[in-house]
Amino acid sequence: MSLNSPIEWTDATWNPVRGCVKVSPGCKHCYAETFAERFRGVRGHPYEQGFDLRLVPEKLTEPFRWRSPKLVFVNSMSDLFQDGVPDEYILAVAGVMATANWHTFQVLTKRAERLRDISFGQMQFAASKAHIWWGVSVEDRKHGIPRIGHLQEASVGMRFLSIEPLLEDLGEVDLKGIDWVIVGGESGPGARPMKKEWVTSIRNQCRTAGVPFFFKQWGGVRKIRQGRLLDGRTYDEYPQTMRIHPPDRETCLSLAESFQQAFGDPALRALHS
Ligand code: SF4
Repeated sequence: MSLNSPIEWTDATWNPVRGCVKVSPGCKHCYAETFAERFRGVRGHPYEQGFDLRLVPEKLTEPFRWRSPKLVFVNSMSDLFQDGVPDEYILAVAGVMATANWHTFQVLTKRAERLRDISFGQMQFAASKAHIWWGVSVEDRKHGIPRIGHLQEASVGMRFLSIEPLLEDLGEVDLKGIDWVIVGGESGPGARPMKKEWVTSIRNQCRTAGVPFFFKQWGGVRKIRQGRLLDGRTYDEYPQTMRIHPPDRETCLSLAESFQQAFGDPALRALHS
């Protein structure tokens, strides 16, 4: 887990999975891939294997060791619902999130159909919890808009959209059942431009629908210079969160230990090998 995440809409990141496979135009300049590939071949580094998919079971119990309540972005360096992650492992991650309810978890995916399907099945125990937010990435009409439909069909309690990098005008977006919208432009070398009217269209639709709107950044090659003001102000709106007092230190440690023992189960270990 990493504290003080530079990502504007979260406090911390937790990566029990590392690495991913690109699926759509929003992945073109994936920051996680750029970061991970920098360390390919560096012995002993967490990203020694670059951006290749890996389960990291030793990270599973980290949220129990973190007693101060946080907004936790789950798998900022991966996608929990990608094909290579077994159902059993997704359920293990969900088990930790469901139990560590003093945190708020933000799970973002581009594999919305798998999220939908598993939310009706074995993951139901976690899917409807108010402190676990389920989101899909929406970069364009062709790939992003269908994900919104899959998220709306999912049996989850709290839904959000990460409209980033916004690559075109999305037109009218169905915001039924959506609890939060984040919008941002692409940043870094080769960043694709984002027009103001694409952003204001989404903001206005959020206003009409009463959905909290978070404007992350304009992006561009010099992201700091471009800033994050929209019509002269920042938009830092969030859905309401329920703050739950964390258990005492001993309870947290014993939760970590009991989950660690469960994750030491040979069946789960076999998923990693
Ligand atoms: S789904 Fe996310 S983590 Fe995976 S390649 Fe695409 S942008 Fe990167």
